[in-house]
Amino acid sequence: MSQAATSLSDSTPQAIRGAFLDFVDDPFYVAASESVRYIPDGLLVFQQGKVLAFGAYQDLHSNYGAIEVTQYSGKLMVPGFIDLHVHYPQTEMIAAYGAQLMEWLETYTFPTEAKFKDADYARKIASFFLDELLRNGTTTALVLPTIFPQSVQVLFEEAQRRNMRIIAGQVLMSRNAPDSLLNDAETAYGQTKEQIQTWHGNGRSLYAITPRFAITSTAEELALAGKLKREFPDVYVHTHMSENLKEIELTAKLFPDCKDYLNVYEQFGLVGDRSVFAHCIHIDDSAFQRLSEAGAAIAFCPTSNLFLGSGLFKLGQAKSSQYPVKVGLATDVGGGTSFSQLQTMSDAYKVAQLQGESLSVFKAFYLATLGAAKALALEDKLGSFDVGKEADFIVLDLQATPLMALRNPVPHAESLDQLAEKAFAMMILGDDRSIVATYVAGNLASIPT
Ligand SMILES: [Zn+2]
Repeated sequence: MSQAATSLSDSTPQAIRGAFLDFVDDPFYVAASESVRYIPDGLLVFQQGKVLAFGAYQDLHSNYGAIEVTQYSGKLMVPGFIDLHVHYPQTEMIAAYGAQLMEWLETYTFPTEAKFKDADYARKIASFFLDELLRNGTTTALVLPTIFPQSVQVLFEEAQRRNMRIIAGQVLMSRNAPDSLLNDAETAYGQTKEQIQTWHGNGRSLYAITPRFAITSTAEELALAGKLKREFPDVYVHTHMSENLKEIELTAKLFPDCKDYLNVYEQFGLVGDRSVFAHCIHIDDSAFQRLSEAGAAIAFCPTSNLFLGSGLFKLGQAKSSQYPVKVGLATDVGGGTSFSQLQTMSDAYKVAQLQGESLSVFKAFYLATLGAAKALALEDKLGSFDVGKEADFIVLDLQATPLMALRNPVPHAESLDQLAEKAFAMMILGDDRSIVATYVAGNLASIPT
């Protein structure tokens, strides 16, 4: 097994100076003045991959005078983005034309995923995928591999080579897909159990029990997934729910005794505070309430939902104060059309606009940082610059293109209002070109060009 990447610089404190943005509370419920932390001239000190000190430069610099400081003038530092739902084997079939979910799976996705039986091939794509995440400023992701154990192993190995905190688990599929992508439920149970024992909590790796969705699992397989969750309560459950109307119709036929889609997962013990459900577009008040009460999370995938014509996620209802549900932003590549969480925020804004709501830049950034960390119950480790957290962060350029430079002639913001205006333009116009640097556990990631 590969060891987590280390470097000599790990033991020596390092510091970054510049403008920092993160969150101390949820801007959906608490005013920006109380929930957003913006330090126009800040200092971040980190050592051995963790934050040692964070605050205003003038308050901290005298304590750390001997430390070498890297200065990013006119840039904006934010916590590394978290992608709450993404398929690494679909990297090479992103942007496939002309189909909605069920036909899209049959035509493009399943034939591509079958190739991941070959471990060398899987490693090549896993490696590209992880570099692409880093190129886009994403330092943590909840990832679906395929039904093949080797596709899980190479992903974790490559993530550990980069010291990235990646959460993943073997995809469980036992019916309603080509034979090449079906596994026997008992065999998959044994393979999953072995992988949990190998990978969960190994370095920065964490494991998720991953039935693809209700349609491709038999009741026996979902029961075994529930058994695994009882045996290993601190692993995650990760799946899809209520993305597309035809999918929902077929699910209802396959599980006639369940009162709705969520109830399928409830019946098998798969709904709890470490469960992440991608999409949840066509769900009713009762399902929102039950997700809220269970402490479960939704991965909001706007580029995918628009591209596949799935529908508009009701973000306003999910973040209501009556039955609040944890929500994180996700690319859902290859149903999604970009690895960039900035592009994903831009489409999230449009999905909200189509429902008469405006998503502020702070709410959008929250969904891709601290909000997603909370959805994963990892807010003690990720999602902000709090002392003791892991030093995963990125450096953003508000003038990354000629158009962005024209739009933001002065990149630096002194006040929260100024920042809101400038950062919003970046979120709408920006992409991987806005990512100047990605730091993973305090080390500057080297990304192939
Ligand atoms: Zn998906």
